[in-house]
Amino acid sequence: MTVSTLDHLVAGRPWAGTSTRTSPVYDPALGTVSTEVRLASAADVDAVVAQAQAAQADWGEASVARRMDVLFRFRELLTTRRDELAQILTAEHGKVLADAAGEIARGIEVVDFALTMPHLNKGEFTQNASTGVDVYSVREPVGVVGIISPFNFPAMVPLWFFPLAIAAGNAVVLKPSEKDPSASNWLAALLDEAGLPPGVMNVVHGDKEAVDALLVHPGIAAISFVGSTPIAQYVYQQATAAGKRVQALGGAKNHMLVLPDADLDLAADAAVNAGFGSAGERCMAVSALLVVDSVADELVERIRTRMAALRTGDGRRGCDMGPLITAAHRDRVSGYIDIAAADGATVVVDGRTGEFDGAADGFWLGPTLLDRVPLDSAAYRDEIFGPVLSVIRVPGYAEAIDIINASPYGNGTAIFTNDGGAARRFQRQVQVGMIGINVPIPVPVAYYSFGGWKASMFGDAKAYGAAGYAFFTREKAVTSRWLDPSHGGINLGFPQND
Ligand code: NAD
Repeated sequence: MTVSTLDHLVAGRPWAGTSTRTSPVYDPALGTVSTEVRLASAADVDAVVAQAQAAQADWGEASVARRMDVLFRFRELLTTRRDELAQILTAEHGKVLADAAGEIARGIEVVDFALTMPHLNKGEFTQNASTGVDVYSVREPVGVVGIISPFNFPAMVPLWFFPLAIAAGNAVVLKPSEKDPSASNWLAALLDEAGLPPGVMNVVHGDKEAVDALLVHPGIAAISFVGSTPIAQYVYQQATAAGKRVQALGGAKNHMLVLPDADLDLAADAAVNAGFGSAGERCMAVSALLVVDSVADELVERIRTRMAALRTGDGRRGCDMGPLITAAHRDRVSGYIDIAAADGATVVVDGRTGEFDGAADGFWLGPTLLDRVPLDSAAYRDEIFGPVLSVIRVPGYAEAIDIINASPYGNGTAIFTNDGGAARRFQRQVQVGMIGINVPIPVPVAYYSFGGWKASMFGDAKAYGAAGYAFFTREKAVTSRWLDPSHGGINLGFPQND
């Protein structure tokens, strides 16, 4: 069977570029190649950036009212046609349709937030900073923004950035994951339909060659990256060395702590949702469950019972959990079950032996529960990025805090307790960027900002929220004096307040 080829989407039109390299895109629930995506050369990236630069010159001058009008229409179209996008996400990522719908809903929140740009973009004004002198600030677009996104949120992560970048008057070159690239073309086509001028939003597909070209391209002013920690660090170093502003969000190993006074049913539900939702392929997934010894047996049993009711299978069939993104990733994740067992962990539920409601060749791995995972096992230390939940039994609160703070990552964490004092202490003591109190996946709403600490983020500006908007703008401070009949004539002295 011949498969179709997904082109880049430049200035509102499919564009083949000049490179002949392509990469297969799978339907993970079928295990078959559904399309192939073009992989841009550096010359292709040059051509796309040139289009974006040309378009940005006019878009940066467009009135606030016009920019908001386009974004508002985009929001309307996205809301009306979200089911279409969910189908694309499930077909290429594998996540179940309900989860795909959730991802889109969180993305739409950022579009809502981008519509507050007229307020966000206001500058400050000081009248009479010195006699007859006014000082004010204005925010201007940075130019062309490069967005490089990961496979696990093919719609939401681009939506974290491009609505704000475009609202601020920038043009965008989006390089999505080559594993599930179609959602980006769909979103860019929708912007075109909403009336965005051609060239303001462009999608270039590719791998390291395209990314490397973007990172050093003189026509790119800012880079927003989301992906694994080694690549985030590389992107940050390359692009900052090339003089760009960079926000580079990396990987994670998120801990959830359950204290003995917690509601254990709530905690068990939360651990199952946060451990196995989207097959654990979330940067905010809980992968390390720290449980105080006195309630550990009971909690493990409640989790095990809940896991028995989960259905893993094709995301279009109403299952709870879908396949992993590729066969290679599935094999890597299942390898960690062997590693954990060899290191002395107990395999309470082994996802390799389950039944799957889907094609035989799908990239299946069922939910897996490991108990008593040693802290020096790679199964604890590494980001597994799959449906594997590791229980680590701790004597008490203090030991748990030490474990969380010893992790090189600091993306998200959660505490489950009914003790407000303990929760408050936890919130202050953990070295982590996003914290949940009886909330397992504390992804901030769009008007706060998303970003971790330590190896989970490189750069200063978090994604979305006020900081995420500011990242896409440059501030000018203007000092202004208009001649007044009483200005006092020539004075060659250094300007001073009086
Ligand atoms: P990845 O790092 O493999 O890929 C991310 C992007 O970088 C893709 O567009 C890819 O094409 C590109 N890329 C890959 N290798 C490259 C290289 N050597 N040089 C230049 N570019 C390269 O990540 P992934 O597997 O697509 O996504 C999963 C990872 O993303 C996990 O580590 C997860 O924790 C992380 N993630 C983090 C967040 C966050 O907000 N912190 C959110 C989502 C995902």
